[in-house]
Amino acid sequence: NGLLTQKPKWLRVKLPTGQKYTELRGLVDKYKLNTICTSGSCPNMGECWGEGTATFMILGNVCTRSCGFCGVKTGRPETVDWDEPEKVARSIKIMNIKHAVITSVDRDDLKDMGSIIWAETVKAIRRMNPTTTLETLIPDFQGVERIIDRIVGVSPEVVSHNMETVKRLTREVRIQAKYERSLEVLRYLKASGINRTKSGIMLGLGETEAEVLQTMEDLRNVNLDVLTIGQYLQPSKKHLPVKEFITPDQFKKYEEIGLEMGFRHVESGALVRSSYKAQKHIL
Ligand code: SF4
Ligand code: SF4
Repeated sequence: NGLLTQKPKWLRVKLPTGQKYTELRGLVDKYKLNTICTSGSCPNMGECWGEGTATFMILGNVCTRSCGFCGVKTGRPETVDWDEPEKVARSIKIMNIKHAVITSVDRDDLKDMGSIIWAETVKAIRRMNPTTTLETLIPDFQGVERIIDRIVGVSPEVVSHNMETVKRLTREVRIQAKYERSLEVLRYLKASGINRTKSGIMLGLGETEAEVLQTMEDLRNVNLDVLTIGQYLQPSKKHLPVKEFITPDQFKKYEEIGLEMGFRHVESGALVRSSYKAQKHIL
């Protein structure tokens, strides 16, 4: 569809600037630190880094799953690096990060699904950076409660798990995942005493407004606190096509409806990514 090859003007972004950004960029290059912000060339780097927030990915760069929207490589993942928790904690210290978001590829190949490294990473960050707050953006861990308990046990300030899309499109968008299972993970996290639970969806994959509102309802029904809504952009020609560019007014509308529904925070906008303005979500 030729119409959608050109991005609307609200999606064109300015290059990040600012003193704090330049400083962090220098450190990341010098120490070869691995952040999603840089590897995904996120448009929000200037803003997030300026506020002391960054996102780190653990458990390697190769995922056992193959979601149709995701730019991460699929295949046989690397062996687990048991020094990774310390390395991530050190990066956070070097960058003087105030609020860190940690995420990972899915490790369905491992018996513990990576949950031990997850918990050790949180502990190492806490040890080395006692004032840094944390959001863990976790996989569904196939819905296994005793595995999810490893995350609950180290009590991150925010625990997030992304729905990514509406129910009807879940099979197409994240083939190995299930809509109900993801909802159940979020329900379980909140019921286990996690202070703030959070989820995100991307728009422009062919969903209708009614389906978006239904997803929002479903998320409210599992007592979700924070919702992010952003525009899907195709990482490469091999990925799912963008069916629609959602207008800024429509994003605003979802935000207003979301707040009325009772979410504590709603970030809704074309460039919103799940970790955008993440430091606000602990409040
Ligand atoms: Fe990094 Fe997330 Fe902010 Fe992008 S939105 S710069 S990935 S923290
Ligand atoms: Fe990408 Fe996560 Fe899906 Fe893996 S599970 S392909 S990292 S979205």
